[in-house]
Amino acid sequence: MALGEFDLIKRYFAPLAEASSDASVALGVGDDCAILNCPEGHQLVVSIDSLVEGTHFLQDTPADQLASRLFGAAVSDLAAMGAKPAWITLALTLPQANELWLERFSQKLGQLCLQYGISLIGGDTTKGPLSLTAQVHGFVPVGKALKRSGAQKGDLICVSGRLGDSRGGLEGLLNGFPDSRGVEYLSERFFAPSPRVELGLALTDKASAAIDISDGLLSDLSHILKASGAADEPLGARLQLEALPLSEELVSCFGEDQARQWALSGGEDFELCFTLPAEHLPTLHNLPEAIAVIGKITDDADIRLYDRGQECALSGAGYDHFKNPG
Ligand code: ADP
Ligand code: MG
Repeated sequence: MALGEFDLIKRYFAPLAEASSDASVALGVGDDCAILNCPEGHQLVVSIDSLVEGTHFLQDTPADQLASRLFGAAVSDLAAMGAKPAWITLALTLPQANELWLERFSQKLGQLCLQYGISLIGGDTTKGPLSLTAQVHGFVPVGKALKRSGAQKGDLICVSGRLGDSRGGLEGLLNGFPDSRGVEYLSERFFAPSPRVELGLALTDKASAAIDISDGLLSDLSHILKASGAADEPLGARLQLEALPLSEELVSCFGEDQARQWALSGGEDFELCFTLPAEHLPTLHNLPEAIAVIGKITDDADIRLYDRGQECALSGAGYDHFKNPG
């Protein structure tokens, strides 16, 4: 690299680390390790995510979009656990030290770190095919993390925000947006997911289980069902399709049927899906995000879909594990 590894770190990443005056960081970027103080009475919650060129994104994806997606996906996992974000480490593999790229990437990352109160505490920088990895660290009071296990029969199934937008944004970017009203909003939903950190914190002591929607609602909800059920007491779900929260932009661009399909199976919305004992619903007020109740946990051992009371099946490849009621 024309710009040496150490100069690169010093110029683009050390300033980010210094920007946060975080008392929990006893020693940040610059030594062999960071030294960190964990608040008493809390557990450390850790998650790591990678973006690899050619696998997760196309060549020439702008650096600021990569920073947003990397950060959003990683911090969303903390949100899903009800954790308060604290620190991030960053492993970058770069084909070359492109200063414009580094400038855009580090600027966006720094902006997001400030916005979410996260300190960059270290990383690794190597040369090779473009790949970005972020490990995030957060805290929960001991025993208070929201897990995938914990859902019970009768619990309400809820989601935050609107679903399917990210998949719609990707579709528009690849094949064009049929309606100009969706261009800005849907592209943004794809490029710059908003991890629902405040909502995750608000659900502590309320939600019985939670997950962030990264693979698609059906897939991620089935993780909750699997983790919460037992071999002799499996759990299922009943979902009301008309209750799926859809954006006007998604529906106006792609129609309601397609929007619903993407709400069920499109990935990377990074909204939260959580289960809630019904008696807790009235206690959820002043939430930082809109939430929608979309169904109920059952003991069916299957996810069943209903459209205004009528059971229905999803068509299309990939969903044939759903029983066709006809
Ligand atoms: P070592 O060789 O001991 O692993 P490095 O030379 O890789 O140390 O890194 C020097 C310092 O810079 C370390 O504190 C490391 O955490 C930090 N660092 C390296 N790359 C990055 C990066 N991309 N972002 C933030 N900090 C980084
Ligand atoms: Mg190193």
